[in-house]
Amino acid sequence: MARLDTETLDMLLSTLKEYAARELTPQVLLKLDHEDVFPEKVLKDLYDPQQIGIHLLFVPEESGGLGGSAWDIYRVCEVMSGIDLGIATGVLATCLGADPILVGATPEQKAHWMGRLADEGLLMAYGATEPQAGSDLAALRTTAVPVVEDGKTTAYRITGRKQWISNGGVADLYTILANAPGGPSWFVVEKGLPGFSHGKPEDKHGIRASNTAALFLEDVTVPADRLVGGVEGKGLAQAQAVFGYTRLMVAAFGLGAGWAALERAIRYAQTRIQGGAPLSQKQGYTHKLLVPTAVRLEAARAYIEWTAERIDGGEPDLATEGAVAKYAATEAGNRTAEDAIQALGGYGYTREYLVEKIKRDVRITTIYEGTSEIMEWTIARDRWQHHLKTKGTWYLDWAARLGGSAETGAPLAAQALRSLAALFERCRLDRLTRNQHILFRLGELTAWAETAAIFSERAASKPSTVLPLGAPVLAAMARVYAREALVRVASDGLKWATAAGQTDAALAQSLALDRAFTAQAGRIEDEDFLARELARAFPAG
Ligand SMILES: Cc1cc2nc3c(=O)[nH]c(=O)nc-3n(C[C@H](O)[C@H](O)[C@H](O)COP(=O)(O)OP(=O)(O)OC[C@H]3O[C@@H](n4cnc5c(N)ncnc54)[C@H](O)[C@@H]3O)c2cc1C
Repeated sequence: MARLDTETLDMLLSTLKEYAARELTPQVLLKLDHEDVFPEKVLKDLYDPQQIGIHLLFVPEESGGLGGSAWDIYRVCEVMSGIDLGIATGVLATCLGADPILVGATPEQKAHWMGRLADEGLLMAYGATEPQAGSDLAALRTTAVPVVEDGKTTAYRITGRKQWISNGGVADLYTILANAPGGPSWFVVEKGLPGFSHGKPEDKHGIRASNTAALFLEDVTVPADRLVGGVEGKGLAQAQAVFGYTRLMVAAFGLGAGWAALERAIRYAQTRIQGGAPLSQKQGYTHKLLVPTAVRLEAARAYIEWTAERIDGGEPDLATEGAVAKYAATEAGNRTAEDAIQALGGYGYTREYLVEKIKRDVRITTIYEGTSEIMEWTIARDRWQHHLKTKGTWYLDWAARLGGSAETGAPLAAQALRSLAALFERCRLDRLTRNQHILFRLGELTAWAETAAIFSERAASKPSTVLPLGAPVLAAMARVYAREALVRVASDGLKWATAAGQTDAALAQSLALDRAFTAQAGRIEDEDFLARELARAFPAG
């Protein structure tokens, strides 16, 4: 998919930022959060083509939209979540709601619904989750019973309950996953139909500016042409098909919210004097609370950008890459916000400085669109299959062709991939993945190794230009990250394989444990440099 031209994207981003500076001041955001209010007017403004027309980004050009690429959506999602993750979720819900149509609808259905979304700025909602069917969507109980007249299906009667639906109480249009006789299928359901109602807004930990509600469907009758794609039983495949893309959006949320917290902490540290000097000059503070998460966020960004480019290049089946991006970015974003509270001390623990709100908001990103544990599982299962199919050479080949340079930590990232290959093989020989925990830990270590590989390669060849950090800073970050990934794969890998009863006395050598530790030499110096550069990039005031 073609990217928007730079001018159009920049204009969209700056219009969003100007709108936020004008209408969404910290006071307004804190009030929305405190009073638990869904800001209907803000969503209307965002959808108003005279102002921003944000929904047009998700609508194909042929239906009157902008036809934004995965790259464009990553950039917009990062900026929106840096403003307010609750409001960003309200927008994401429309994109999610439209996805089953974009992926699975007939050309007529697509033209109709996407055209209406573009013209009317409809708020949409995506109704998949049910009280007993969360991570395990296949357990869904909502049914769609065909209404047959003269031997022809003319309508469906939908009955069931949906849980935790973003925009659930405020949407104009819903896509609902229900079991038809042919299997799980998506249906387009308009608000206000007889038998269709919603619960009161959930009283949530964070993203309180978003509306989340249960949906109740009792014999809600929709014409047969509301079955997405016109064929029953394609629902789970359609949900799966959009994951690469939607998980990338939530990854961008983790990134944007994480940086929103981190920027505040970096600036604060320069003015807060303790022990006779600014905190920004205290190594025990910067190297614990600022530098590590800055590095993790930028590693996740590299992986997000790499995945977005591949999606836009037309590559299918990038659900696992989407999972790695989401897992790395949202875990980093969550950790960043947690550390930002600590970095601001008592002030961080109060509402006024916003990091406390960001922490509550970003927490959702490791839960919705697939929890972190489900991401670990997804990543591990897929890469395990690659390991088996290639007889153990999948990561060895990747390590051999890895670009980058010593300057960007590439040899260490390549070693992390080789150590991962050794770990997978040991798990295979000793049948360790019969322990679910081991499989999930493989997912975690895989995400570290892959992000390290991509970060070290891109820091050398395509350093991101989104933040004012510069190539030498990104190179130092990539070195620090590669060291961390390697030591995690080698030492955690050894720990977990041993815990599960591995039988190789020389596994530490196969995992290059010695090298993982000697590779840490120079890390403090890199972190000193990064602490200075972060303060330079985000000065106080
Ligand atoms: C604010 C909010 C907005 C949301 N918006 C939407 C929306 O718009 N549309 C929609 O359809 N859904 C939405 N959801 C639902 C969300 O996607 C689910 O909450 C999520 O997928 C997890 O499902 P669950 O809550 O049932 O938890 P569960 O699946 O019960 O998981 C509970 C815990 O168990 C772990 N777990 C689950 N399965 C396994 C397993 N097999 N092995 C090991 N561990 C496991 C999970 O990782 C998690 O830690 C939203 C949720 C929230 C809170």
